[in-house]
Amino acid sequence: MDTAIDQQLASDNYSGACPEVMAALFNANHGYVSSYGEDSWTQAACDRIREVFETDCEVFFVFNGTAANALSLAQLCAPFHSVIAADVAHIETDECGAPEFFSGGSKILSRTAVNGKLTPEDIHYWVGKRSDIHYPKPRVVTLTQSTELGTVYTVEELQALSEAARNCGLAVQMDGSRFANAVAYTGASPADLSWRSGVDVLALGGTKNGGMIGEAVLFFRRKLGEDFAYRCKQGGQLASKLRFLSAPWLGLLQDSRWLANAAHANAMAARLAQQLAAIPGVELRFPVEANAVFVNLPGPVQTGLLNRGWHFYTFIGGSARLMCSWNTRIETIDRFAADCAELAGEFNSDPAVKR
Ligand SMILES: *Cc1c(COP(=O)(O)O)cnc(C)c1O
Repeated sequence: MDTAIDQQLASDNYSGACPEVMAALFNANHGYVSSYGEDSWTQAACDRIREVFETDCEVFFVFNGTAANALSLAQLCAPFHSVIAADVAHIETDECGAPEFFSGGSKILSRTAVNGKLTPEDIHYWVGKRSDIHYPKPRVVTLTQSTELGTVYTVEELQALSEAARNCGLAVQMDGSRFANAVAYTGASPADLSWRSGVDVLALGGTKNGGMIGEAVLFFRRKLGEDFAYRCKQGGQLASKLRFLSAPWLGLLQDSRWLANAAHANAMAARLAQQLAAIPGVELRFPVEANAVFVNLPGPVQTGLLNRGWHFYTFIGGSARLMCSWNTRIETIDRFAADCAELAGEFNSDPAVKR
């Protein structure tokens, strides 16, 4: 047969880092500079992020998204507080209890969220559920943008959610592991999708966007970020040679590379979705807005794909999750879809299969 599969759709962090990020990293590898963030690259990266977000926010760099979420939520919560989240939120399902651990016990309150998106009703439900001293007091709403299911909150939806949050005395934290994909999809400005829509703290993802390692935490209300550096240090998240976490952001944010990366990933997902939707027996699970495609595949088709060397995860409701990256090739998409079509064709024409 043809060549081995060299690009997978299992996760957007299977991909490497983009050349601009690596160039910025190498560029920072010069000379002796002050450690722990007291260097000119870190200063420049913070300034660049403030420019992109059109506001004078506090910026911190941490090693990964779990830390960005867990530490920022801990910053907003006392141990007796709670965090309102979607049931599929990464903080709830994929962070090994880090938000609870770093906050010293804050409970996560979640219920089924259609297409992975919270609504103002969810906020009212949880705030109204209990207000007695025996139940943890809601303090934060966390929104994932784009969501774990590949959908995107519009500016209007964010505004309605943050208004509901504000009216209930809650802060708004955003898990922006794939924030760039949401900016690319909506065409709204980074500011409009965050602080101008009421987001107080943003965990801004770099890794899945074409970075190598590291995420940023942005406090739009500077007061909320007070002493956050101590929390990062205590949590083992303060890099001593911080320039190597911060400088790559200069490459990612230069000439809108981050948005071009995200737009490409989104376009590949849209192409994949279109091809898969045309295959009899294959069903898309959620609207494809960012860089994720969730599909229901007949069991034998899943097995066939795995046998052909494709990797993918099926941990959400038995459907396959396919993720596109900044450098996913069209050929990869077309090959996956063609394999799917071929396997589905065999399955659909098999007289032994009862339906
Ligand atoms: C990948 C991801 C993160 C960050 O995960 P780490 O592995 O800790 O970097 C956070 N939120 C969402 C929604 C993610 O998909």
